[in-house]
Amino acid sequence: MKIAVARETRDGESRVAMVPELVEKLTGLGYAVAVQPDAGRHALIDDEEYRSAGATVDDGALDDADLVVSVQPLGTDAIRRLPAGAATVSFLPTGQEPEIVRQLRDSGVTSFAMELVPRISRAQSMDALSSQALVSGYRCAIVAAGLLRRFFPLNMTAAGTVKPAQVVVLGAGVAGLQAIATAKRLGAVVKAYDVRAAAAEEIRSMGAVAIELELETLEGAGGYAREMTEDRAARQRELLAPYIAAADALITTAAVPGRTAPMLVTRQMVEAMSPGSVVVDLAAETGGNVEGSVAGEVVRLGNAQVWGGRNVPSQMPGPASRLYAQNIVNLVTLMTESSEEAGAARFAPDFEDEIVTGACVTRDGAIHHGPTREAIE
Ligand code: NAD
Repeated sequence: MKIAVARETRDGESRVAMVPELVEKLTGLGYAVAVQPDAGRHALIDDEEYRSAGATVDDGALDDADLVVSVQPLGTDAIRRLPAGAATVSFLPTGQEPEIVRQLRDSGVTSFAMELVPRISRAQSMDALSSQALVSGYRCAIVAAGLLRRFFPLNMTAAGTVKPAQVVVLGAGVAGLQAIATAKRLGAVVKAYDVRAAAAEEIRSMGAVAIELELETLEGAGGYAREMTEDRAARQRELLAPYIAAADALITTAAVPGRTAPMLVTRQMVEAMSPGSVVVDLAAETGGNVEGSVAGEVVRLGNAQVWGGRNVPSQMPGPASRLYAQNIVNLVTLMTESSEEAGAARFAPDFEDEIVTGACVTRDGAIHHGPTREAIE
């Protein structure tokens, strides 16, 4: 059977779903691997590297593929080219892509969404939300350090002492914890806040100060946060205001699954920050944690520069692709009856497995994922 690696076509997408160093994991399972030309170009991987790793590079890679792997969902034209019975694995935000989901259903494609892989221990190695959030969190801290026109670390020099930067991180999930760790490594003094009770200990374990507010914590299902009421949101903003006013850099990474990002910081709170301060809003493209942030732009609000994240993992396409490709290999391995013989692997997802069934969006001409089916049909 053949796995095709698609060239990404969406604006601003620099990642690729497979890297040469992991091609042999797929050929080792018994798959043939075909890559569309220039698939790795933006991640600085050339076609020759895929060939040397044992893949073919072929414009018609998708036409006879049994499985197509990509980062973003395939486009309409690519889906039309898939042979009957083909499968796809990619990110597939079903709420934002109803037309693509319908087309996958109507074409009889078995599609899997990386964001639907259940976040259980057994699936950790397939968890692309986490691997990409890790890249985003690192990147946010580096962007903040780059925009700030002062040192992150304490500097004691013959010419005097330079105080370290004060960094505040809101939201301490995978991305937030990585932002904390990176800002700490750069020597900043870091304080962080998250609505989940368990987060305080995780924040401390990264060497940061956990901001404790006199507010109820908000745990939801599956270890995620719950949405705030407007009253609680207003009180949280009020209690966080002095911490934000004192920060040189503010990094926001808060999210609630299935909802637009919670608005944690008003324009007024940003305007109270000191001259030269920096705000990095990772959530800008899902509604924004910071009022006035714009995805993909740096805007000025009061004295602060406000950077809005847009496809942030794609800004580090090499490592983001490597981690994503490993997630793909692990998921594909779970769905494979492997064979010693080249090309003889069988892609045979076991729908009794909670990871497989949880990640499946369309199958047998129907929408398999319940919430998507209810929203679309
Ligand atoms: P996420 O991207 O959904 O949210 C980011 C963070 O924002 C979360 O920590 C959330 O609590 C926080 N948040 C939401 N509303 C907030 C508000 N009003 N103010 C401040 N913070 C707010 O979350 P994530 O990073 O994907 O992960 C969240 C949880 O899931 C963590 O507990 C993490 O350990 C867990 N997790 C488990 C697995 C696994 O078991 N495989 C994998 C990844 C994450």
